[in-house]
Amino acid sequence: MLKENLLIVEEKVVQACARAGRNRDEVLLIAVSKTKPVEMIEEIYREGIRDFGENHPQEIREKFPQLPADVRWHMIGHLQTNKIKYIIERACMVHSVDSFHLAEAISKAAVKSNRVMPVLVEVNMAGEESKFGVAPQETEALIRQIAPLPGIRVEGLMTIAPYTDNPEDNRIYFREMKKLNVDIGAKNIDNVSMRHLSMGMTGDYEVAIEEGATMVRVGTGIFGARSYAV
Ligand SMILES: *Cc1c(COP(=O)(O)O)cnc(C)c1O
Repeated sequence: MLKENLLIVEEKVVQACARAGRNRDEVLLIAVSKTKPVEMIEEIYREGIRDFGENHPQEIREKFPQLPADVRWHMIGHLQTNKIKYIIERACMVHSVDSFHLAEAISKAAVKSNRVMPVLVEVNMAGEESKFGVAPQETEALIRQIAPLPGIRVEGLMTIAPYTDNPEDNRIYFREMKKLNVDIGAKNIDNVSMRHLSMGMTGDYEVAIEEGATMVRVGTGIFGARSYAV
């Protein structure tokens, strides 16, 4: 059953890439496994997926030893500085940096662990009060502030678009994200690459790919609806 879900998502990713004249290998499909048991993750792993997204540091800590070492864990949710210790040696990337304070704390932990953590800066493109992330017009300034920190490397931007039944509603935000990414990339800031745009979830990943996403984060479309009751 999960295999069929994955095949459907994969086919839609392929089609969206084709419509946009992009190669399939320009887009990384991250299977968002938050709240889902290890057995389900293993099922998707067996189909060849290696990138999984989680939004709670403790969940990465718990699942990490239960899955093969070649799984890449993406920290996609809001991160509190006191939880960095759970992910610093386990996550391959933090998608959700939205303050200098957090970047600095990740930097310190990474240096201590002798690694370099790739990070994305989370942008609140639609200015929603309920969402984390920096305003688009503050993004470059934050990146310039973060860039010199040791143990951390800015590799692009991430956004969570508004919830909507019509993915076309979010096209404008994805397009503006791409523009912001290109504009900041053109500044050639030291230690900043801007190669990644993490945007698009189950409801809107096809539109996000058409507008330039390099990473899409799909949970429900692969694993089914989440139940927070358990
Ligand atoms: C849960 C989550 C997703 C996946 O959402 P779906 O709608 O289930 O695909 C993607 N990104 C973030 C940051 C999330 O927290």
